[in-house]
Amino acid sequence: MPSPQQNKLLVLFYHQVLKEADPILCDEPDAETFDWQMGVISKYFNVLPLSEAYELMIRGRLPRRAVCVTFDDGYANNIDVAYPILKKWNIPATFFIAVGFLDGGRMWNDTVIESIRRADQEYLDLSKFGLSGYEISDESQRLNVIREILNELKYLSVNERMHKVERIAEFIGKELPDHMMMRSEQVAELHKGGMEIGGHTVNHPILARLSSEEAESEIVSGKNVLYELLGDQVTSFAYPNGVPGKDYTGLHVDIVRRAGFRLAVSTAWGCATNRIDRYQLPRIGSWDRTPERFSLRLLRTYLDRNVLTA
Ligand SMILES: [Zn+2]
Repeated sequence: MPSPQQNKLLVLFYHQVLKEADPILCDEPDAETFDWQMGVISKYFNVLPLSEAYELMIRGRLPRRAVCVTFDDGYANNIDVAYPILKKWNIPATFFIAVGFLDGGRMWNDTVIESIRRADQEYLDLSKFGLSGYEISDESQRLNVIREILNELKYLSVNERMHKVERIAEFIGKELPDHMMMRSEQVAELHKGGMEIGGHTVNHPILARLSSEEAESEIVSGKNVLYELLGDQVTSFAYPNGVPGKDYTGLHVDIVRRAGFRLAVSTAWGCATNRIDRYQLPRIGSWDRTPERFSLRLLRTYLDRNVLTA
């Protein structure tokens, strides 16, 4: 009888690892936090590359307390800040890249965040964009306003969202950073360094909001761009935003399978087991800020009985 910790796979997901803590990006760990998090998992867990871990899991040969580390989107700090720490702890990771933002692009959410961070106003009236008026006289107000606006805009179509965000940024009128995402050659460098690169579409749309043709094009083109860049097959995929039934449906699972990916991850919370659809493996976020809480969260997720019957 396998113990509850056997043949279960815990997949952690990150977006950014910041050089220094940033109150506006308070869900993203800084280098110091990420360093001890990787220290904890390399000491107490068995870290494996995602594809290899999945193959071991379906053969019932996963080591106990198996963990994978993944990153979504393709932020430049993945290579500048996270990669040296991963190398230090000898941890393989998978990077899911939205290829449309490589080489100087900026994701729509970052345009909102970086505009509001820099806004001179203490009161921001965005009513002409179908939003509200917001007090932004201190950092915590700015943080709440950013969250509210991102939630408000997230489910618009890609074009409408982009258009609206660009108009808001123009209205606030600040110069914005254009080096937040990796350059193509940096993605290739991660791959050469033994890291896995996975698909994450071209423009990071909410797939469920697209026609099936558009969704297929986003998924397949994203994969092809990475294949051209790396000269290697891309076998893992992460659904943008990743909430099952809301951000993607069975239709998109089929497209991902037909596109030749061998596994895919969502942002459903929990441990993966071989009884869970290989194209919808759950993951867990990692925002604990003390080693005790972080370790406890990982162990609790392993021991969660619900995961065993999922
Ligand atoms: Zn993403």
